[in-house]
Amino acid sequence: MDQRIGIDIGGTKTEIAFFRLVGTNAELQIQARERSPTSIKNGYEPWISALAQAISQIAEKQGVDLEKVSFLGLGAPGSLNSENQTLVRSSIPDLSGKQIGDDLVQVLGLPKLPHRLENDANCFLRAEMLYGSGQKFVKETKDGLALGVTVGTGLGGGIWVRGKIFGGHRGLAGELGHTVVRPQGKSCFCGRRGCAERYISGVGIREAYQEKVGPDQAKRASEIFALAEKGDPIATEVIHETKEIFALLLGNLINALDPDLIILGGGVSNQPLLLDGMQALLNKGMFYGYQAPPLLRHTLGDSAGSIGAALID
Ligand SMILES: [Zn+2]
Repeated sequence: MDQRIGIDIGGTKTEIAFFRLVGTNAELQIQARERSPTSIKNGYEPWISALAQAISQIAEKQGVDLEKVSFLGLGAPGSLNSENQTLVRSSIPDLSGKQIGDDLVQVLGLPKLPHRLENDANCFLRAEMLYGSGQKFVKETKDGLALGVTVGTGLGGGIWVRGKIFGGHRGLAGELGHTVVRPQGKSCFCGRRGCAERYISGVGIREAYQEKVGPDQAKRASEIFALAEKGDPIATEVIHETKEIFALLLGNLINALDPDLIILGGGVSNQPLLLDGMQALLNKGMFYGYQAPPLLRHTLGDSAGSIGAALID
């Protein structure tokens, strides 16, 4: 039996999950999942201590001896510097440059516990490929290429090649939220202008709507989708523009990578209107004579991040 811990650190919530991999087929058993607000407002050290305390409490409740845990994985937003296991320009600024894994195992009193940190979209894609909507594909072909795209508060991505996540030369591969879709477009925290994340994300959709209706009529992305479903002309226009930019991004990625499939995750990707007609929109933009690969929805829901983190090694 292989006892593991996966931690998915999100902008608003953090999930700690305990897993077991059982048998020769590495059947995944979820023992415990706990979600709590990501609260770093009192500083990084108190946050790490609270995280360690929450892990110890789950272990106690589940009767798990932390000394017997074989691996602890962490997923968080931001690009990974694979040399020193830190995040570069995380959208959770307090985490940038911090050696979260090292610090956490120290506070847990388990300095030898193997651990690794990775971009959260990579964790999502690994989980979906091994235990979610890509599972069948992985079983049938070992050579394929898949793309994971997470549309939530921000926009993340991951690339899966021949049975594992492709990190690129320095761990930057798949950082597709910061590819430019609008030259001279909106400025982004990464330092560039017109990044895909500024448009195809919960925040991007909210801002696009607000620009059309004025600052005093702010709405959440889910409310804007609901208005568009009812035929509201401004919300419909915003969603239409978002989809056009999304199709442009996906079309560019398909032409560059020629993936076998694309798996979509993140809260905004659950909106049926976002994907309605998207396959046809993509086919229209394909290189002559080619069809776009299938766009699949995620099947693991909120658990994908922590599952993928627990399986990093
Ligand atoms: Zn950017």
